[in-house]
Amino acid sequence: MVILDRLPTQDQLQQMRMDVEQRCLMCETGLKFRDHLFACCTYSRQIWTAILCMCNIERNVCSWDMELQWLCAKLKGKSLLVFFLKLAWGSFVYHVWEEHNRRKFRSLSRDVAGLLDCIRKSIQLRVQNRSILMNDVNKKLCVSWGVPL
Ligand SMILES: [Zn+2]
Repeated sequence: MVILDRLPTQDQLQQMRMDVEQRCLMCETGLKFRDHLFACCTYSRQIWTAILCMCNIERNVCSWDMELQWLCAKLKGKSLLVFFLKLAWGSFVYHVWEEHNRRKFRSLSRDVAGLLDCIRKSIQLRVQNRSILMNDVNKKLCVSWGVPL
């Protein structure tokens, strides 16, 4: 849904002529639409940057299109890093969208650290019973994500 740009975001609802708030609920700037919510928003950008950092990847987060291009090129093979990145990307999109909806419909919010902790825990649960080849790269990755060795 996210990749196809079918989430009921502000811009989609406006196209259906529904009355919607113009500002992003996460950073209170920028229009709320997919590209902003998952790539340009300062809130989301901090989370995705932290996720990349926990994957031992240093790069600047770019636009939505650039992130998708980068992911498509990076998510090949069966390394532990690719496994973590796939889980982390899915978890990032899910949790950012969930956070958006928490703010919109329940007036509840989590800060960047709180949401990042939710993502970290979801990854730990998915990885903890997996058999992992413990080389230096994988060990560093597990330590970064707090996965028990
Ligand atoms: Zn924003």
